[in-house]
Amino acid sequence: MAEQESLEFGKADFVLMDTVSMPEFMANLRLRFEKGRIYTFIGEVVVSVNPYKLLNIYGRDTIEQYKGRELYERPPHLFAIADAAYKAMKRRSKDTCIVISGESGAGKTEASKYIMQYIAAITNPSQRAEVERVKNMLLKSNCVLEAFGNAKTNRNDNSSRFGKYMDINFDFKGDPIGGHINNYLLEKSRVIVQQPGERSFHSFYQLLQGGSDQILRSLHLQKSLSSYSYIRVGAQLKGNLKFVVDGDTPLIDNGKVVSIIAELLSTKTDMVEKALLYRTVATGRDIIDKQHTEQEASYGRDAFAKAIYERLFCWIVTRINDIIEVKNYDTTVHGKNTVIGVLDIYGFEIFDNNSFEQFCINYCNEKLQQLFIQLVLKQEQEEYQREGIPWKHIDYFNNQIIVDLVEQQHKGIIAILDDACMNVGKVTDEMFLEALNSKLGKHGHFSSRKLCASDKILEFDRDFRIRHYAGDVVYSVVGFIDKNKDTLFQDFKRLMYNSSNPVLKNMWPEGKLSITEVTKRPLTAATLFKNSMIALVDNLASKEPYYVRCIKPNDKKSPQIFDDERCRHQVEYLGLLENVRVRRAGFAFRQTYEKFLHRYKMISEFTWPNHDLPSDKEAVKKLVEHCGFQDDVAYGKTKIFIRTPRTLFTLEELRAQML
Ligand code: ADP
Ligand code: MG
Repeated sequence: MAEQESLEFGKADFVLMDTVSMPEFMANLRLRFEKGRIYTFIGEVVVSVNPYKLLNIYGRDTIEQYKGRELYERPPHLFAIADAAYKAMKRRSKDTCIVISGESGAGKTEASKYIMQYIAAITNPSQRAEVERVKNMLLKSNCVLEAFGNAKTNRNDNSSRFGKYMDINFDFKGDPIGGHINNYLLEKSRVIVQQPGERSFHSFYQLLQGGSDQILRSLHLQKSLSSYSYIRVGAQLKGNLKFVVDGDTPLIDNGKVVSIIAELLSTKTDMVEKALLYRTVATGRDIIDKQHTEQEASYGRDAFAKAIYERLFCWIVTRINDIIEVKNYDTTVHGKNTVIGVLDIYGFEIFDNNSFEQFCINYCNEKLQQLFIQLVLKQEQEEYQREGIPWKHIDYFNNQIIVDLVEQQHKGIIAILDDACMNVGKVTDEMFLEALNSKLGKHGHFSSRKLCASDKILEFDRDFRIRHYAGDVVYSVVGFIDKNKDTLFQDFKRLMYNSSNPVLKNMWPEGKLSITEVTKRPLTAATLFKNSMIALVDNLASKEPYYVRCIKPNDKKSPQIFDDERCRHQVEYLGLLENVRVRRAGFAFRQTYEKFLHRYKMISEFTWPNHDLPSDKEAVKKLVEHCGFQDDVAYGKTKIFIRTPRTLFTLEELRAQML
């Protein structure tokens, strides 16, 4: 178990609790938080509580304490997990991943940065220039991504509005030689509108407040934030693109803006104007320019602004990937290059008004919880059964039913939403809700006002509710259809494709197609997201996972308050008590007999250099008895199971003495 500090700091590993109960768990968590011990183990899982203040626990001296040590030798820390993942990669050539979960503001992004810093600090002792370059890029890319992808929300002043998975590749020496970033669903609706008290992405404010006069002049921007309706901090709006109506047809209110847009996008004024006011449609054999209504024109403008920002963000990620990509690594010469992946993805969200974005984010968390269940709880139990080791069954809530509710083919919410979006003619959000009601009315985790009028939580007719593993969330259907279709008129794509700026042009390859060639319906936003989540989970499942479970102590961003109710809820839905139970019932370490012997055979004269026993299993038994660990192990069909980490640690020490 984790090295015990003085007990005044509570138990360093929840596995050491006297009884596994919620009150004892909470008491330990609170005590440790109050004593500034924000990390606690559950076996190899690190539970972290956001301290909301700078702690002096990430410096060089702390790094030195964790470097190369076994997980259990030092007090719980992110560095212990980072080092364990690194060792697994280096010693056993295993691809590993560190999955950081928790709700918004719980400390995921900070944790991911400390982990990266740790890995950067312990690698490349020989200071190879190329490795230094890669490390710098990996660390510095965060700053750029946060500028463009983070924003102030009511939960977190620096909230990540995109999901991020970063692979770090290592060479045979264990030094980082490159990496790759995958980004997931940027919340682009934030570009045009924000909830009260929130802001748009940091980059807008950084540019306006920090950009030199020269830059601002060249972009035709004014320093004052209140000038721009998209980042509305005040009402005094000048210089925004607006439409006025003349009879039925919209006209552009302020023509000068159009020429500025044309200049900035390296295209022509009349083409911008046309794309804003007309839409090219094919009717039979004719191609006509159909004039927008004012509503359509405004919709088009907003969709265009969102799409420009989203593509810019993806372009930045691609640029970073080009720079950090593994180069000149020849696996036939240097052997396998191994990977540590770090996942920092939006946590479970319940806002006052939950929309399509929250639906996607919460679905993502269902997927990750399912992965956690699969890997930590279910597989653990199944493996004991398979190996014929006695096992006490442990109950836990399996959220697969909710994952299915959302993603199942033909029957799930996403499929129903896509169906609604496929209909020709006008489809409304209400029609989508109707379809949900009729198809999912009987589902235990779905409800709506129509189905359950007496339900006070469902305030409005347009609401539906999902009973998530982490709690009930009421979603408003308003905007689901639009956001899922994510329509951007082809005219805008063509406009951008015809830009004389090659960077812009390359961001819009579909603009090449004329209206008659655009036949394939693009995949909907929800389906694209679903596909990316399935790929993500497959990828994570192929690696050896390490978990950081982040908890937010209060909603006031205060370092003093430990809100029992809020914390208990998080402990519950993160399944931490079940995690402790499984861990206590279980074994800390397991290895096939063959691999075990390979690593430890030098410890015993019965196995070194070779054994003459009938099987590897018998040889391992002999070795274990020789060392006196027989009470701490169980012998499965193909693997040895070791209960406490201390035993493993001693084995490692004995091995080191022999080498
Ligand atoms: P999340 O990514 O889970 O939404 P963040 O990592 O952005 O949350 O954390 C929110 C805020 O909490 C940070 O901006 C920082 O002020 C504070 N915080 C989080 N983790 C730590 C930590 N380990 N030490 C000090 N402050 C922290
Ligand atoms: Mg974050």
